Amino acid sequence: MKASRFLMVGAGLSGAVIGRALAEAGHEITVVDSRDHIGGNCHTQRDADTGVMVHVYGPHIFHTDDEEVWSYVNRYANFLPYKNRVKTTSRGQVFSLPVNLHTINQFFAKTMRPDEAHSFITEEQADTSITDPQSFEEQAMRFVGRELYEAFFKGYTIKQWGCHPSELPASILKRLPVRFNYDDNYFFHQFQGMPENGYTDMISGILDHPSITVKLNTTFDRNMAEGFNHVFYSGPLDGYFDYELGRLGYRTLDFERFTYDGDYQGCAVMNYGEEDVPYTRITEHKHFAPWETHDRSVCYREYSRAAQPGDIPYYPIRQVKEKALLGEYVELANKTANVTFVGRLGTYRYLDMDVTIRESLDTAAAVLASLEAGDDLKPFFVSVL
Ligand code: FAD
Ligand code: UDP
Repeated sequence: MKASRFLMVGAGLSGAVIGRALAEAGHEITVVDSRDHIGGNCHTQRDADTGVMVHVYGPHIFHTDDEEVWSYVNRYANFLPYKNRVKTTSRGQVFSLPVNLHTINQFFAKTMRPDEAHSFITEEQADTSITDPQSFEEQAMRFVGRELYEAFFKGYTIKQWGCHPSELPASILKRLPVRFNYDDNYFFHQFQGMPENGYTDMISGILDHPSITVKLNTTFDRNMAEGFNHVFYSGPLDGYFDYELGRLGYRTLDFERFTYDGDYQGCAVMNYGEEDVPYTRITEHKHFAPWETHDRSVCYREYSRAAQPGDIPYYPIRQVKEKALLGEYVELANKTANVTFVGRLGTYRYLDMDVTIRESLDTAAAVLASLEAGDDLKPFFVSVL
C-alpha cells in the first residue's frame, strides 16, 4: 500500500486518534488546530498560581463500557479511580444527584426503603397518564413527577438550553437515571476514571509519533487541502461551508473563574436547580484529582447562552429547525470528495469522549480497508440525522 498524506483539522480526540491509527499504518499525518494548544475541548492545564489541574473547557470525566476504548486510553495515560458524584442545590438545601433514595427521602422528609420509595414515586408522584413521553418535561413528569422535576430539572434545563423543557426531546433527560437505592454514581458505565496528568498529556501521547506533525495557531482553509490525499475535518460542519446555508444553533458556555483559599464547596460539581440562580453549576477543579493536595482552589461558575458568531460552540441544539438545516449540510458534505467530517462539531452531535474514540478508531479502520482494497477514498460520514 502506497503511503498517503492526510490532513487532520483539529487536534482534539478525533484528529489525534484517527491520525495516530493512520500514522501507525505508515501514512504521513499533518494536524492543524486554530488554538494554541492540542486536546480540543478536553484540554487540561495546570494553573500556575495554585498548581490545580484545570479542565479549561468544562469538567470532563472519562466513563465507558467499551473495553477496547478503555484499554486504548490506558495506553496513553495512567487512569486513577474517579467516580462522578454530583450534588445540587435547590430550595435552600443540598441534594444528591442523580435522583436516588437519599434524594427522595431528603426531599420528602421520609425514611422509605427502596420498594416503598418506588411505590411512592410511581403511585403518588409520577404522571402515569403519560404513556409515551415525547418531551423532556413529559419524561420528567412520567418518571419522577412534578415536585422533583420542578426542584431539580425545570430551572436547570431552562438555563442550560434557553427554552422550556416542553420544547426539548425526552432523550436529553433519558441520559440521567433514577435510582431506588443509595448509589450516587452519576454514570452507569463499568469503567470510570481520570487521567493522572490530565487529558492534554494523554492526547500529546497519542500524537507523539514520528509520522505526525502538529501545527498550532493554524486555521484551516480549503486551499490547505492541496497536496493531501484526504482531509479529516473535526471543526464545525457549517463552518467548513462558510455558513453558506445558515448557522447551525449551538449553546455556548461562559466560565467565571475564581480562586479560593481552602475548599470552596467540598465536591467537584455543584449544580443549581433553580432558575433564579443565573449559573447552572460550579466546578471546583481540584476535586477532580483527589490524589493531589492543594491548599488553594480554582473554581468555574458556568453560564449557558445561545452561541453567537465567534463564540465557542459547545452543545449542538438539534431541534426541528436545526435538524432540517443539518440535513442540507449533510447533503453538501456527502458531495464533498476527499473530506470526511468527524467528531463532535463535524457531525453536529453531543459525543462523549469514549464514543468519539470509538468512532475515530472505526473511521480509521474503514479508511485503511478502502486503501487496502485499492478503492478511492470517498467521504465516510456517520449517520447524524
Ligand atoms: P473537539 O474537542 O471540539 O476538537 C475539535 C478541535 O478542532 C478544536 O481544538 C478546535 O480548535 C479545532 N478546530 C475547529 N475548527 C477548526 C479550523 N477551522 N481550523 C483548525 N482547527 C479547528 N465527554 C465525556 O466523555 N465526559 C465528560 O464529562 C464530558 N464533559 C463535557 C463537558 C462539556 C462542557 C462539553 C462541551 C463536552 C464534554 N464532553 C465530555 C465531550 C468531549 O468534550 C468530546 O467528546 C470531545 O471533545 C470530542 O473531541 P473532538 O476532537 O471531536 O472535538
Ligand atoms: N439536568 C437538569 N438538572 C441537573 C442536571 C441535568 O435538569 O442538575 C438536565 C439538563 O437539561 C441536562 C440533562 O439533564 O442537559 C442531561 O444531564 P447531563 O448531566 O448529561 O448534562 P450535560 O452533560 O449535557 O451537561
